[in-house]
Amino acid sequence: RTAVVLLTRDLRVHDNPALAAAATADRTVPLYVLDPKLADLSPNRTRFLHQCLADLREQLRRTGGDLVVREGDPVAETIRVARDTGAETITLAADVSGYATRRERRLKDECERHRIALELHPGLTVVEPGTLRPGGGGESYKVFTPYYRSWSAATWRQPAGTPQRLTLPDGLTAGRLPGLPAGESPHACEGGETAARRRLTAWLRQDLQGYGDAHDDLPGDATSRLSPYLRWGCLSPLALAEAARERGADAFVRQLCWRDFYYQVARAFPKLSTEALRPNADNDWRYDQDALQHWTDGLTGVPVVDAGMRQLREEGWMHNRARLITAAFLTKHLGLDWRLGVAWFFRWLLDGDVPNNSGNWQWTAGTGNDSRPYRRFNPIRQALRFDPDGVYVRRYVPELKGIDGAAVHQPWRLPKSEFRGLDYPGPLESHRDEAVWLR
Ligand code: FAD
Repeated sequence: RTAVVLLTRDLRVHDNPALAAAATADRTVPLYVLDPKLADLSPNRTRFLHQCLADLREQLRRTGGDLVVREGDPVAETIRVARDTGAETITLAADVSGYATRRERRLKDECERHRIALELHPGLTVVEPGTLRPGGGGESYKVFTPYYRSWSAATWRQPAGTPQRLTLPDGLTAGRLPGLPAGESPHACEGGETAARRRLTAWLRQDLQGYGDAHDDLPGDATSRLSPYLRWGCLSPLALAEAARERGADAFVRQLCWRDFYYQVARAFPKLSTEALRPNADNDWRYDQDALQHWTDGLTGVPVVDAGMRQLREEGWMHNRARLITAAFLTKHLGLDWRLGVAWFFRWLLDGDVPNNSGNWQWTAGTGNDSRPYRRFNPIRQALRFDPDGVYVRRYVPELKGIDGAAVHQPWRLPKSEFRGLDYPGPLESHRDEAVWLR
């Protein structure tokens, strides 16, 4: 028997149900198809992906197998490989985005045409999207807390074993991995299951216990930074949630549930990136190219916002608290469309994906699953609370390095001559004229 596993964003050998299922065949073809349609979305993520693939190839070679790499339309290439090797089965991790589900449907049709069995497996989340349904009916939970309750009470699946020995079909060439493409962020972390495990070990050993108290502390940088590895499946979300649960780290497990929450939202609303979940909250956006440019450049003149936006460019990652502050600034302070923010974040984030990026943007903009959609985020109050001494701002905004303590959050309050000497802009006004905090 021969089986092909089409790997997509489950780039690991541990607890990978689709790979483990294909590994029960006599011959297994672990396949990744480089899809030109996804190639230009984000240089940062493309580089990270290539690092993941190189690492995965090494892991698979240790089992006697290999990573087979092809380029082109994933459906056509997968069917071609399956037919060339006489495979009876194709396995795949079920995904939720519009693009992924269309790919899945096309693959299903082609498999039927060629009499190949297609098996969909879990693995991208802790609990499979769609398996938990709200009491009153409906496709998905719209509010987090009840979802969290039923997610916590659910029986999680058994982890899949790591394949020990894989055999490729005779005569199949593995294919070359193209050279490592350049990313855009100089301080982006490295992709791959090996790097993920390294980060995970350090995190479990040193920082997990303090997470509940420290995760909002901007300068402390005390979150796991595991999101890119979860995004690409270098880490199993189930294995991570179990490890955290065993250690009693409830606050951290709860964050992993947010991730699952948005997957089940995205599964029920495939247009999450482009259409508001609450359409009547989506009609009030301004057009202001200049303000948008200031925001993307990290030159809004509000230091905590600019620090977040520059961290994004430098690292391809941003602290969650800064994501909230910068997103609220764009949508609620400047009154600009959340879709512009989705697109900008999607270009830079190593962890950028449709469910979490769009779901969180809609939450922040008030068009999504927030039970208090009209909440306002005062960036100065946020800055004083979560970066009380201004350390985070000074780390990312060198123009303000010379300003001590919390004064760095409102440079416009400095004596005029000092402010003028800073080479830093005055703050963008709110479109609502409510920005009393600026004066
Ligand atoms: P930790 O605090 O260590 O949390 C552990 C894990 O829990 C994270 O890796 C992540 O998988 C999950 N998690 C934590 N917070 C959230 C959350 N609010 N929503 C969903 N999952 C969460 N996360 C992404 O993975 N991809 C995105 O594209 C993305 N876009 C975002 C856009 C905006 C506007 C906002 C406000 C948040 C976004 N997030 C996104 C959620 C969150 O900011 C990141 O998951 C988190 O900052 C990643 O850092 P970490 O791994 O150190 O998180």
